Amino acid sequence: HKLYISKDYSSVAVGADEVALVVEKEASSRSIPLSIIRTGSYGLYWLEPLVEVQLEGTKRVAYGPVKPEDVRPLFESGFLNGGDHPLFIGDVQEHPYLKRQKRLIFERMGRLEPLSLDAYVEMGGFRGLKNALEWGQNRVIDEVTKSGLRGRGGAGFPTGIKWKTTWLAPSSQKYIVCNADEGDSGTFSDRMVMEGDPFLLIEGMMIAGFAVGANKGYIYLRSEYPLAYEILNKAIDICKQKGYLGSKLFGTSFSFDLEVYLGAGAYICGEETALLDSLEGKRGMVRPRPPLPAVKGLWGQPTVINNVITLASVPWILSYGGDAYARFGVNRSKGTLPVQLSGNLKYPGLVEVPFGISLKELIYEFGGGTRTGKPLKAIQIGGPLGPYLPESLLDIPLDYEELSKIKGIVGHGGIVAFDDSVNLAHMAHYAMEFCAEESCGKCTPCRIGSTRGMELMEKIIWGKGSRKDLELLFELCDTMINASLCGLGGMTPFPVLSALRYFPEDFGYSKQDIV
Ligand code: SF4
Repeated sequence: HKLYISKDYSSVAVGADEVALVVEKEASSRSIPLSIIRTGSYGLYWLEPLVEVQLEGTKRVAYGPVKPEDVRPLFESGFLNGGDHPLFIGDVQEHPYLKRQKRLIFERMGRLEPLSLDAYVEMGGFRGLKNALEWGQNRVIDEVTKSGLRGRGGAGFPTGIKWKTTWLAPSSQKYIVCNADEGDSGTFSDRMVMEGDPFLLIEGMMIAGFAVGANKGYIYLRSEYPLAYEILNKAIDICKQKGYLGSKLFGTSFSFDLEVYLGAGAYICGEETALLDSLEGKRGMVRPRPPLPAVKGLWGQPTVINNVITLASVPWILSYGGDAYARFGVNRSKGTLPVQLSGNLKYPGLVEVPFGISLKELIYEFGGGTRTGKPLKAIQIGGPLGPYLPESLLDIPLDYEELSKIKGIVGHGGIVAFDDSVNLAHMAHYAMEFCAEESCGKCTPCRIGSTRGMELMEKIIWGKGSRKDLELLFELCDTMINASLCGLGGMTPFPVLSALRYFPEDFGYSKQDIV
C-alpha cells in the first residue's frame, strides 16, 4: 500500500509528522506493508493533515483532517482500500476547492514526491528548459515578454523587460538571484513551491540564466524556512549529480550553478537592493536607484532578481508558449496568481486562479466566509503594508491596475480576512510599529516618521487625539509616501490611511472628520 502525507511546514504544524508516525506503527503492528510518501501540500489547509491512499492505477482517495487518534479507526474501516469513514474526502482532484482553480504553477503540487527528479521529469519537468535551449535567448525573452508575466513578489514589473535589460547589459559575468525572503504576513506560496516542487524553481532559474547569459544563481532564502533550506539543497545536489547543474546541458555550451544563501531575518532584505547588500555579506540597506540591479546588481554585475513565484511561472510559459499563458487573466494582469487565503476564514489555503476573479469570489467561494461566522469587517491584501478594504469594495477584480485605483496592491497575493471583532485602529498602529521595527534607517521619512507616526497614533487611539493630531498624521503619511526611498516607508501609510478612511469610528472619529 502507498500513502501520501504532506511534509509541507503548515501540515507539519498541525500534526502531519505525528500522523505519519502513528500510521507507520499501526501498519507494522498489523503486519501490513506500507510505504508513506511525503509530498508537498495541495494547500487545502483546513483538511490537513490529509492522508491520501493510492488505490488501483493512479486513483487516490483522501481522508482528512486526520488526527493521530483517528488512525486506528481508519485502519478498522479499511481505508487502505478506500473504505468509508467520516473523514473520507474522496478524490482530492475532484474537490471543488481544487477543481475551480487553474493550476499552472501548482499543477504537480501534492501529487509529486518533492525530491524525485524522475517524477518531476515524468510530469513534464524540464520541458520548458529544453525548449528554451532549442529556441535561443532571443525567443525565450520574446515568449516571456509575450506572456505578460509580471513580478509576483510585489512590484509587478514586467519580467520580459527586466530580462531583456540584463541580457543587453554588457558584461561577461551576470547573475540570477531568486528572492525567497517571503516576509509578508499571510503569504506562503513561495515556501510551498520550495518545499513541495523545488525542481520547478531550479528550472525557472536555469531558463532565466540561459536567457540573459548568466551562469550563476543564488536563492536568497529566509532563515525561518528550515525545511525549504534542506529540500532546496538536496534538490540542487541531485541536479548536480544528474548533470542538470554545474555541467554543460544537453549538448549545448550552457551551464548553470546554483547556491542557497540564508538571510538573517530582516524584512527589508526582501527589498531587492537591500537583498543584494545582504547577499554580498553586508548589512541589508536599500540602495538608491539608478543604477538598476538589472544593469548593476550583485557585486556590480548585471543581475536579474525575481521572486520564487515569478521564476516558477517560467517553465510553464516556455512549455506552452507566451501566448498560451497570456490567454489567462485580464487587461495587463496576465496569467495566474497563487492567492494565499488566511486569517479568519473557514477554508484558508492556496488558490491559484487567473487574474480577473473578484475578491468577493476569493473570500466567499473559496474562503467560505469567516470561520467565526461573524460578519466580515475587512480584508488586507498585499502584505502588512497593503490597505484594509471593507466588504463594500470586494467586487473589485484581482488586477494590478484595478486595485491600484483604490490604492490597493496585489503584492505577493496574500489576503488576510478579519471579522467584526477586529479594531482597525489597532491594526493600523501595528503597521507603523512594524515599520519602526523593520526600517533600515537609510532615509528620514521612514526611520523617524514611523516612530513619530506610532506615537501620534497612540495619542489618537488611547489618548485624547485632537483634530490637529489627525491633520499631523495625514501630513506625516503624505511625507512618508512621497519622500521615502523604498516601499517600506512609502507604503506603511496605506494600511493607516485606509483604516482611517473606511473605519474612522475605530479611531474615535466620524466619517466627516476624515474628509
Ligand atoms: Fe530604509 Fe525605510 Fe528608507 Fe526604505 S524607506 S530605505 S526601509 S529607511
